Amino acid sequence: MTDPLTSWLQRGAGHQGPVALMYHSVRRGSGRPDWPWAVSRARLRDQLDALRDHGWHTVTVAELAGTAPLPARAVAITFDDGYVDNLDAVEDLAERGQRASWFIVSGSIGRMPAWSDPGRPDGRLLSAAELRDMTAAGMCIGSHTVTHPRLTELADADLERELSGSRDMLQQAVGDAVDTLAYPYGLWDERCVAAARAAGYRAAITTRTGWALRDGDALRIRRLTVFNEDTTASVLRKVALATNDAGTGRLLGRMLRQLGRRILPAGSAA
Ligand SMILES: [Zn+2]
Repeated sequence: MTDPLTSWLQRGAGHQGPVALMYHSVRRGSGRPDWPWAVSRARLRDQLDALRDHGWHTVTVAELAGTAPLPARAVAITFDDGYVDNLDAVEDLAERGQRASWFIVSGSIGRMPAWSDPGRPDGRLLSAAELRDMTAAGMCIGSHTVTHPRLTELADADLERELSGSRDMLQQAVGDAVDTLAYPYGLWDERCVAAARAAGYRAAITTRTGWALRDGDALRIRRLTVFNEDTTASVLRKVALATNDAGTGRLLGRMLRQLGRRILPAGSAA
Protein backbone atom coordinates (compact mmCIF):
# COMPACT_ATOMS: atom_id res chain seq x y z
CA MET A 1 0.00 0.00 0.00
CA THR A 2 1.52 3.32 -1.06
CA ASP A 3 1.16 6.33 1.25
CA PRO A 4 -0.96 9.29 0.01
CA LEU A 5 2.00 11.63 -0.59
CA THR A 6 3.86 9.09 -2.71
CA SER A 7 0.66 8.16 -4.62
CA TRP A 8 -0.01 11.83 -5.32
CA LEU A 9 3.53 12.33 -6.63
CA GLN A 10 3.26 9.22 -8.80
CA ARG A 11 0.10 10.52 -10.48
CA GLY A 12 2.04 13.18 -12.36
CA ALA A 13 5.26 11.20 -12.72
CA GLY A 14 7.14 10.29 -15.86
CA HIS A 15 6.23 13.22 -18.10
CA GLN A 16 9.56 14.99 -17.77
CA GLY A 17 11.47 12.18 -19.43
CA PRO A 18 13.21 9.01 -18.32
CA VAL A 19 15.07 8.51 -15.07
CA ALA A 20 17.92 6.15 -14.18
CA LEU A 21 18.52 4.34 -10.89
CA MET A 22 21.88 3.11 -9.62
CA TYR A 23 22.30 -0.07 -7.60
CA HIS A 24 25.52 -1.90 -6.67
CA SER A 25 25.16 -4.98 -4.47
CA VAL A 26 22.14 -7.14 -3.59
CA ARG A 27 22.30 -9.02 -0.26
CA ARG A 28 20.15 -12.05 0.35
CA GLY A 29 17.39 -11.73 2.95
CA SER A 30 15.50 -8.74 4.25
CA GLY A 31 17.93 -7.20 6.79
CA ARG A 32 19.40 -3.80 5.97
CA PRO A 33 22.98 -4.21 4.68
CA ASP A 34 25.69 -2.11 6.39
CA TRP A 35 27.21 -0.89 3.11
CA PRO A 36 25.17 2.12 1.98
CA TRP A 37 25.32 1.00 -1.66
CA ALA A 38 23.88 -2.46 -1.02
CA VAL A 39 20.19 -3.30 -0.85
CA SER A 40 18.52 -6.40 0.54
CA ARG A 41 17.02 -8.74 -2.01
CA ALA A 42 13.62 -8.41 -0.32
CA ARG A 43 13.71 -4.62 -0.77
CA LEU A 44 14.92 -4.90 -4.36
CA ARG A 45 11.99 -7.19 -5.19
CA ASP A 46 9.54 -4.80 -3.52
CA GLN A 47 11.03 -1.88 -5.45
CA LEU A 48 10.82 -3.73 -8.78
CA ASP A 49 7.20 -4.67 -8.05
CA ALA A 50 6.33 -1.09 -7.09
CA LEU A 51 7.88 0.36 -10.26
CA ARG A 52 5.96 -2.15 -12.39
CA ASP A 53 2.70 -1.60 -10.49
CA HIS A 54 2.99 2.17 -10.96
CA GLY A 55 3.42 1.78 -14.72
CA TRP A 56 7.19 2.23 -15.03
CA HIS A 57 8.78 0.49 -18.01
CA THR A 58 12.40 -0.60 -17.78
CA VAL A 59 14.69 0.51 -20.59
CA THR A 60 18.43 -0.01 -21.03
CA VAL A 61 21.01 2.76 -20.97
CA ALA A 62 21.69 1.99 -24.66
CA GLU A 63 18.01 2.66 -25.35
CA LEU A 64 18.24 6.03 -23.58
CA ALA A 65 20.76 7.00 -26.26
CA GLY A 66 18.79 5.48 -29.14
CA THR A 67 16.40 7.06 -31.59
CA ALA A 68 13.36 4.88 -30.84
CA PRO A 69 10.68 6.65 -28.77
CA LEU A 70 10.72 5.77 -25.07
CA PRO A 71 7.62 4.85 -23.06
CA ALA A 72 6.05 7.60 -20.91
CA ARG A 73 7.33 6.21 -17.62
CA ALA A 74 10.79 4.94 -18.53
CA VAL A 75 13.32 3.93 -15.91
CA ALA A 76 16.83 2.65 -16.63
CA ILE A 77 17.83 0.37 -13.76
CA THR A 78 21.62 0.10 -13.51
CA PHE A 79 24.15 -1.92 -11.51
CA ASP A 80 27.77 -0.76 -11.16
CA ASP A 81 30.89 -2.88 -10.50
CA GLY A 82 29.39 -6.32 -11.33
CA TYR A 83 29.22 -8.08 -7.96
CA VAL A 84 28.36 -11.77 -8.26
CA ASP A 85 25.40 -11.25 -5.89
CA ASN A 86 23.76 -9.40 -8.79
CA LEU A 87 22.76 -12.79 -10.26
CA ASP A 88 19.85 -12.70 -7.81
CA ALA A 89 18.79 -9.39 -9.32
CA VAL A 90 18.99 -10.84 -12.84
CA GLU A 91 16.61 -13.59 -11.74
CA ASP A 92 14.23 -11.13 -10.06
CA LEU A 93 14.21 -8.81 -13.08
CA ALA A 94 13.70 -11.64 -15.58
CA GLU A 95 10.78 -13.02 -13.54
CA ARG A 96 9.06 -9.66 -13.89
CA GLY A 97 9.91 -9.12 -17.56
CA GLN A 98 12.17 -6.22 -16.56
CA ARG A 99 15.65 -5.36 -17.83
CA ALA A 100 18.67 -3.54 -16.47
CA SER A 101 22.13 -2.36 -17.49
CA TRP A 102 25.39 -3.50 -15.91
CA PHE A 103 28.69 -1.65 -15.83
CA ILE A 104 31.59 -4.06 -15.57
CA VAL A 105 35.25 -3.52 -14.63
CA SER A 106 36.86 -5.46 -17.46
CA GLY A 107 40.21 -6.05 -15.73
CA SER A 108 38.52 -7.95 -12.88
CA ILE A 109 35.96 -10.12 -14.72
CA GLY A 110 35.29 -13.32 -12.76
CA ARG A 111 37.87 -12.37 -10.11
CA MET A 112 38.14 -10.54 -6.83
CA PRO A 113 37.95 -6.77 -7.41
CA ALA A 114 41.42 -5.26 -8.02
CA TRP A 115 40.42 -1.83 -6.71
CA SER A 116 39.73 -1.01 -3.07
CA ASP A 117 36.34 0.00 -1.71
CA PRO A 118 35.92 -0.46 2.05
CA GLY A 119 32.73 -2.19 3.13
CA ARG A 120 31.74 -3.66 -0.20
CA PRO A 121 30.60 -7.29 -0.49
CA ASP A 122 33.06 -10.16 -0.26
CA GLY A 123 33.50 -12.47 -3.19
CA ARG A 124 34.31 -12.33 -6.85
CA LEU A 125 32.81 -10.34 -9.67
CA LEU A 126 30.60 -11.68 -12.46
CA SER A 127 32.34 -14.02 -14.93
CA ALA A 128 32.36 -13.85 -18.74
CA ALA A 129 29.99 -16.82 -18.94
CA GLU A 130 27.59 -15.11 -16.53
CA LEU A 131 27.76 -11.88 -18.55
CA ARG A 132 26.91 -13.83 -21.72
CA ASP A 133 23.92 -15.44 -19.98
CA MET A 134 22.77 -12.01 -18.83
CA THR A 135 23.02 -10.66 -22.38
CA ALA A 136 20.97 -13.61 -23.61
CA ALA A 137 18.35 -12.73 -20.96
CA GLY A 138 18.01 -9.23 -22.44
CA MET A 139 20.29 -7.40 -19.99
CA CYS A 140 22.64 -4.70 -21.28
CA ILE A 141 26.37 -4.95 -20.52
CA GLY A 142 28.46 -1.79 -20.47
CA SER A 143 31.92 -0.70 -19.37
CA HIS A 144 33.05 0.61 -16.00
CA THR A 145 36.67 0.90 -17.32
CA VAL A 146 39.54 -1.60 -16.95
CA THR A 147 40.69 -0.84 -13.38
CA HIS A 148 38.02 1.48 -11.84
CA PRO A 149 40.28 4.57 -11.64
CA ARG A 150 39.40 8.24 -11.13
CA LEU A 151 39.28 9.11 -14.84
CA THR A 152 39.68 12.84 -14.28
CA GLU A 153 43.13 12.25 -12.76
CA LEU A 154 44.54 10.16 -15.64
CA ALA A 155 46.95 11.22 -18.39
CA ASP A 156 45.41 11.18 -21.87
CA ALA A 157 47.01 7.86 -22.88
CA ASP A 158 45.82 6.12 -19.70
CA LEU A 159 42.35 7.56 -20.11
CA GLU A 160 42.20 6.22 -23.67
CA ARG A 161 43.44 2.80 -22.49
CA GLU A 162 40.81 2.58 -19.74
CA LEU A 163 37.99 3.45 -22.14
CA SER A 164 38.97 1.66 -25.36
CA GLY A 165 40.64 -1.25 -23.56
CA SER A 166 37.61 -2.07 -21.45
CA ARG A 167 35.32 -1.81 -24.44
CA ASP A 168 37.47 -4.25 -26.44
CA MET A 169 37.79 -6.69 -23.53
CA LEU A 170 34.07 -6.66 -22.79
CA GLN A 171 33.10 -7.11 -26.44
CA GLN A 172 35.38 -10.16 -26.51
CA ALA A 173 33.95 -11.51 -23.26
CA VAL A 174 30.30 -10.93 -24.09
CA GLY A 175 30.44 -11.55 -27.83
CA ASP A 176 28.26 -8.51 -28.44
CA ALA A 177 28.62 -4.77 -28.99
CA VAL A 178 29.48 -2.75 -25.88
CA ASP A 179 28.86 0.97 -26.31
CA THR A 180 27.72 2.21 -22.91
CA LEU A 181 29.90 3.43 -20.02
CA ALA A 182 29.55 4.40 -16.37
CA TYR A 183 32.21 6.81 -15.08
CA PRO A 184 33.80 5.29 -11.91
CA TYR A 185 32.98 7.25 -8.73
CA GLY A 186 30.73 9.39 -10.94
CA LEU A 187 33.83 11.43 -11.83
CA TRP A 188 33.97 13.00 -15.30
CA ASP A 189 34.82 16.24 -17.03
CA GLU A 190 34.76 17.57 -20.59
CA ARG A 191 37.97 15.71 -21.44
CA CYS A 192 36.47 12.40 -20.23
CA VAL A 193 33.31 12.98 -22.28
CA ALA A 194 35.38 13.66 -25.39
CA ALA A 195 37.52 10.58 -24.75
CA ALA A 196 34.42 8.42 -24.26
CA ARG A 197 33.03 9.66 -27.57
CA ALA A 198 36.35 9.01 -29.30
CA ALA A 199 36.46 5.48 -27.85
CA GLY A 200 33.13 4.70 -29.51
CA TYR A 201 30.67 4.97 -26.62
CA ARG A 202 27.17 6.09 -27.52
CA ALA A 203 26.01 6.55 -23.94
CA ALA A 204 27.74 7.29 -20.64
CA ILE A 205 26.17 7.65 -17.24
CA THR A 206 27.12 9.81 -14.27
CA THR A 207 25.88 10.17 -10.69
CA ARG A 208 24.68 13.72 -11.16
CA THR A 209 21.01 13.68 -10.16
CA GLY A 210 18.05 14.79 -12.25
CA TRP A 211 16.07 13.63 -15.27
CA ALA A 212 18.35 11.23 -17.15
CA LEU A 213 18.47 13.18 -20.43
CA ARG A 214 18.15 16.66 -18.98
CA ASP A 215 21.47 17.80 -20.47
CA GLY A 216 20.58 16.64 -23.97
CA ASP A 217 23.81 14.66 -24.18
CA ALA A 218 23.83 10.87 -24.03
CA LEU A 219 27.42 10.94 -22.71
CA ARG A 220 26.29 12.77 -19.52
CA ILE A 221 23.19 10.85 -18.50
CA ARG A 222 22.02 11.68 -14.99
CA ARG A 223 21.20 9.04 -12.43
CA LEU A 224 19.62 8.61 -8.99
CA THR A 225 21.07 6.38 -6.28
CA VAL A 226 19.24 3.65 -4.37
CA PHE A 227 20.75 3.29 -0.89
CA ASN A 228 20.47 0.52 1.71
CA GLU A 229 17.90 2.54 3.65
CA ASP A 230 15.61 3.30 0.69
CA THR A 231 12.08 1.98 0.94
CA THR A 232 9.62 1.23 -1.82
CA ALA A 233 8.00 4.61 -1.20
CA SER A 234 11.26 6.57 -1.23
CA VAL A 235 12.28 4.96 -4.53
CA LEU A 236 8.89 5.88 -6.01
CA ARG A 237 9.39 9.47 -4.81
CA LYS A 238 12.91 9.55 -6.27
CA VAL A 239 11.72 8.53 -9.74
CA ALA A 240 8.75 10.92 -9.55
CA LEU A 241 10.94 13.91 -8.66
CA ALA A 242 14.33 12.92 -10.14
CA THR A 243 16.12 13.63 -6.87
CA ASN A 244 18.02 11.60 -4.28
CA ASP A 245 16.62 13.90 -1.62
CA ALA A 246 13.13 12.40 -1.39
CA GLY A 247 12.56 12.32 2.37
CA THR A 248 8.97 13.06 3.27
CA GLY A 249 9.66 16.09 5.53
CA ARG A 250 11.50 17.99 2.82
CA LEU A 251 8.93 16.98 0.23
CA LEU A 252 6.02 18.18 2.33
CA GLY A 253 7.73 21.56 2.58
CA ARG A 254 8.17 21.68 -1.19
CA MET A 255 4.56 20.65 -1.79
CA LEU A 256 3.24 23.32 0.55
CA ARG A 257 5.19 25.95 -1.35
CA GLN A 258 3.76 24.63 -4.64
CA LEU A 259 0.25 24.56 -3.20
CA GLY A 260 0.64 28.15 -2.16
CA ARG A 261 0.99 29.04 -5.83
CA ARG A 262 -2.11 27.27 -7.12
CA ILE A 263 -5.48 25.98 -6.07
CA LEU A 264 -5.57 22.26 -5.55
CA PRO A 265 -8.69 20.54 -6.97
CA ALA A 266 -10.82 19.10 -4.18
CA GLY A 267 -9.89 15.60 -3.14
CA SER A 268 -6.73 15.38 -5.19
CA ALA A 269 -4.36 15.09 -2.23
CA ALA A 270 -4.67 13.56 1.18
ZN1 LIG B 1 32.08 1.58 -9.46
